[in-house]
Amino acid sequence: DAAISMRGVWKLYGDVVALKDLNLDVQKGEKVVIIGPSGSGKSTALRTINRLEDIHLGQIYIDGKDICDKKNDINLMRQNVGMVFQNFNLFPHMDVMKNLIIAPMKLRKISKSEAEDRALFLLKKVGLADKVKAYPSQLSGGQQQRVAIARALAMQPNIMLFDEPTSALDPEMIGEVLDVMVNLAKEGMTMVVVTHEMGFARQVADRVIFMDQGVILEQGAPLQVFDYP
Ligand code: ADP
Ligand code: ADP
Repeated sequence: DAAISMRGVWKLYGDVVALKDLNLDVQKGEKVVIIGPSGSGKSTALRTINRLEDIHLGQIYIDGKDICDKKNDINLMRQNVGMVFQNFNLFPHMDVMKNLIIAPMKLRKISKSEAEDRALFLLKKVGLADKVKAYPSQLSGGQQQRVAIARALAMQPNIMLFDEPTSALDPEMIGEVLDVMVNLAKEGMTMVVVTHEMGFARQVADRVIFMDQGVILEQGAPLQVFDYP
């Protein structure tokens, strides 16, 4: 089975067609970068994959399971899909450690000490082991985004979705976040990334998808897409 399979997906907002019969398969371990103009449906495509948005028509399968089938537990499926947003979306009233342990304890039902061990391991990985007691407001944007990535990973997802993860960052902080993502890619994570960072796409993507007006206009290996005559 593909990790993600979108079949004939339509998503409308009023009379705006955000996704127009979209078909997209992502294989296990594949890294897909989605590019395209603002409003082309990139963010909507990601948001339908973990059902932050319902679709109007079509099917979406995650690891072979139909996420629109009411018989399948949406919360269970969502746990396998981590998402990182442009604006970090950390819980502002919780310190970094709590941000990382709260969902795994509640939803994965692991003990506090196990959750903390895993959180510390992940914070080391993103270079923030010294920030466990900091609150989001005390961190730079780059640090907050690295915490957000660690928080998503704390749920032990099989798939990671990134929606313009560096777009809200000052230029000097973009590199530290991309480094974390490159390492994650090297570890074999299945990743779908909406980004304007073409260097990242060239370095990491197995496939680059160019979307416009809710459809895929072009796709291929980075060299193929970027050096199109
Ligand atoms: P992109 O991520 O490529 O910028 P989006 O997926 O955010 O594109 O948006 C696709 C289209 O859907 C745009 O026309 C946008 O204005 C519209 N859209 C997105 N979200 C909403 C929403 N919550 N309500 C109404 N229209 C929306
Ligand atoms: P992105 O392209 O990263 O989604 P946007 O600025 O397009 O960023 O969207 C930010 C938020 O606003 C999203 O939650 C999106 O669903 C919503 N949104 C986008 N376009 C519209 C719209 N035309 N009407 C209402 N909400 C919208």
